[in-house]
Amino acid sequence: MKLLTATREGQGDRDGDFCYAVEGELVFAGFVCATDRRDPAGGCGCGRAFSGLNSLRATTTALVRDLDLTYDDVRLALSAHFVAAGMGPDVLDAADFEEMLEEEVEQTIRYAQVWEPGAIVGRRLDSVHLRTPAVR
Ligand SMILES: [Zn+2]
Repeated sequence: MKLLTATREGQGDRDGDFCYAVEGELVFAGFVCATDRRDPAGGCGCGRAFSGLNSLRATTTALVRDLDLTYDDVRLALSAHFVAAGMGPDVLDAADFEEMLEEEVEQTIRYAQVWEPGAIVGRRLDSVHLRTPAVR
């Protein structure tokens, strides 16, 4: 299925770009702090960045790739991310964790489906937008 991965492609095309994530790792649209909720172009950067599932580091650019991964693979990757980030079922209520995990898996998959593999996308709060179309 199509998924978003960290990339340095497109970095620097826009003010405020950064990529601290590991090239090629899966990313998702992580949680946004109050500062960036008010101004996603400003201070923190989390409102315009994706989070690397393994590195826990952020990138403002993501590459759409068609990967041989299943729904369960994505679920496992996100689950491990939340545990590593201190939001595991041992910290949150187990039912709350499952609910959050399902929502994030659905959203992570949905965000990548509309673009062609090879497209570079960016994020602004709860939406993902095209930055550079895939080259055919
Ligand atoms: Zn923030």
